[in-house]
Amino acid sequence: MPPGRALVAPPEGELLDLRQRRVRDLRISVTDRCNFRCVYCMPKEVFDDDYAFLPRKQLLSFEEIVRVARVFVDQGVEKIRITGGEPLLRRHIENLIEQLAKLPVELTLTTNGSLLRKKAQSLKDAGLNRVTVSLDGIDDAVFKRMNDVDFAVGDVLDGIAAAAEVGLAPIKINCVVKRGSNDDQILPLARHFRGSGHILRFIEYMDVGSSNGWRMDEVLPSADVIARIGAEFPLAAIAPNYRGEVAGRWRYRDGGGEIGVISSVTQAFCATCTRIRLSTEGQLYTCLFAQSGHDLRALLRHGAGDEALRREIAAVWRGRDDRYSEIRTAATERPGSGRIEMSYIGG
Ligand code: SF4
Repeated sequence: MPPGRALVAPPEGELLDLRQRRVRDLRISVTDRCNFRCVYCMPKEVFDDDYAFLPRKQLLSFEEIVRVARVFVDQGVEKIRITGGEPLLRRHIENLIEQLAKLPVELTLTTNGSLLRKKAQSLKDAGLNRVTVSLDGIDDAVFKRMNDVDFAVGDVLDGIAAAAEVGLAPIKINCVVKRGSNDDQILPLARHFRGSGHILRFIEYMDVGSSNGWRMDEVLPSADVIARIGAEFPLAAIAPNYRGEVAGRWRYRDGGGEIGVISSVTQAFCATCTRIRLSTEGQLYTCLFAQSGHDLRALLRHGAGDEALRREIAAVWRGRDDRYSEIRTAATERPGSGRIEMSYIGG
């Protein structure tokens, strides 16, 4: 939006926000718990044994989640991503997937892969289309340092193999790059996944939440990632699959497959952001870096019908003007900024 031009409300019919963005992607967090303590997301010193996770009765039930999802699909959502915390920790998650799979959407899930060997077949049978697996290193010691619970990289690689065996593909592998912590894993990861058919993506370390102690000098710009890989394996940029796709896509010139970079810090993509997030307790967030949400659970639990839900969701989206990554400055970097935790609403 050109600077200085006033935000105008979109026409009544089409559900657009104040920046003329439509709602296409619903991300649903089904738990705030995780069995990892990734240093950039759930640092152990904050999420310790005394950390108060959400009590079960505060979580949206699967029926409530499906009601909200159905109303969103009616308003244009084409893709649903199940997140967490670690979504595979939510008991009977396959039951939710089975219900969501009845909707006309692409149904995906982001996981740390720790339970994938055990769950891949039942997720596929329930109707899941594909998975994205977080993997912040291929060297076991580095990976363990990043997940901070001593979880072995081999078990996640085995989970990825299980997902491939049952056809939860294309599989995307997400590595958050923190300069000085795991940026030495960029080339080893590229060498490992080249020719595998999986799509390896590198995510710039972000100032999500209020507890990871984020500093700009620990961000390795995606341009550096591409330069490092391109020096060994020549790359060519490729067009996005659709408007609003988060990852910048690159292919190996020798046919070795595709990689991606997600550059929220150095190449903001807010102008085409079509994502909205539903927290595990029914709060709607219009941005990953939001400080407050909109309570849908109260509506759900006080007898509101789908029409009331639809009006509320439409009003939230129409009033949206988020563009945090475009306006991120030194001023917004302060810890304790009140931003909600990524482990609470998913990435
Ligand atoms: S910072 Fe917010 S508005 Fe920008 S792309 Fe991310 S979620 Fe969308």
